[in-house]
Amino acid sequence: MPRLSRDQMRGKAQTVLGLIDPSELGSTLMHEHLIWNITPPSLRSDPPPTEDLDLFRWWDLQTSTLKEYRNTTQLDVGAATRAAAEVVQHGGRTIVELTIGGLMPDPGGLAKASRDSGAQIVMGCGHYVHDYQDPANEHRSVEELAQEMVDQVQLGAWGTDVRAGLLGEIGCQWPWTDLEKKMLHAACLAQQETGAALTIHPARHEDHPWMLVELLREHGADLSRTIIDHIDRTIFDDDRLFRLADAGVILEWDLFGQESCYYAPNIDIDMPNDAGRLRDIRKVIDRGHGDQVVISHDICHVVQMSEWGGHGYAHIYKKVIPLMRRRGYTEAEIDAIMVGTPRRLLTFI
Ligand SMILES: [Zn+2]
Repeated sequence: MPRLSRDQMRGKAQTVLGLIDPSELGSTLMHEHLIWNITPPSLRSDPPPTEDLDLFRWWDLQTSTLKEYRNTTQLDVGAATRAAAEVVQHGGRTIVELTIGGLMPDPGGLAKASRDSGAQIVMGCGHYVHDYQDPANEHRSVEELAQEMVDQVQLGAWGTDVRAGLLGEIGCQWPWTDLEKKMLHAACLAQQETGAALTIHPARHEDHPWMLVELLREHGADLSRTIIDHIDRTIFDDDRLFRLADAGVILEWDLFGQESCYYAPNIDIDMPNDAGRLRDIRKVIDRGHGDQVVISHDICHVVQMSEWGGHGYAHIYKKVIPLMRRRGYTEAEIDAIMVGTPRRLLTFI
């Protein structure tokens, strides 16, 4: 595959099947996983266990900190295809798939799922949080890590000719590690080199998003093309929320469908439900930042998939958009969140 130049990509969006006109993106889920392995590396086994989940334990699997391989691993391209088709069936057009280094990305599987489902899939690139990364990354330079992301956008990712359409989700944990700071610096360089948007998984600490803004500024990132993910489990007060919005970054509420206050990865966090998410988004819109909001489900546990009794990837279309209308969101506000802002972000500049 030849390298695509910046000029060839400018003004286009890039799915796993190639460049498209951004007007074709349509309604977009900005943060999902269709094929993934989020099992902590220390709990992975080879070959993987194959016994099915016990759905009589569904609530336990939804709310506990248990890491059960069969729940935290979804490598079945057929299941990914059915999930993507469900989105299309309910009015979605594009799924941003952020399974990257450390989470077992499968670009070929995503391309097949896109072809077989009719959904457009835009793939991320780079590396997830420190604990999931190849220790060899610690010895790589900022420039090498940046070039890897540039290549994943312009040439192809993870040994395939499938190219990424944005950078991230670049992962951060708490305490924030030097490796992760280096990776984010590299992503800033890759953003400047490619004109792609950048999406970041912040650490589970309410001050971390602002620390990200400071590092992003230091390294010349384009904040208007940078998304802070998982606002729902990270920011719990208006001061921090408004400060971030005023800085110009994009805010992503991407845990829609998680209706319980129990947040398995950190029991000290009180998670909002969908109604609470919509109240927080309303505040940001009313402050004049309606063009800085995107939403998604970030499905990465099997019991969240509809075929295992979960809310599934079409939940936003089936339940959340109707709820937005009942809560007084205008069609223009919904359109900005689902179509306009994703299109701006996914268009290479
Ligand atoms: Zn994610």
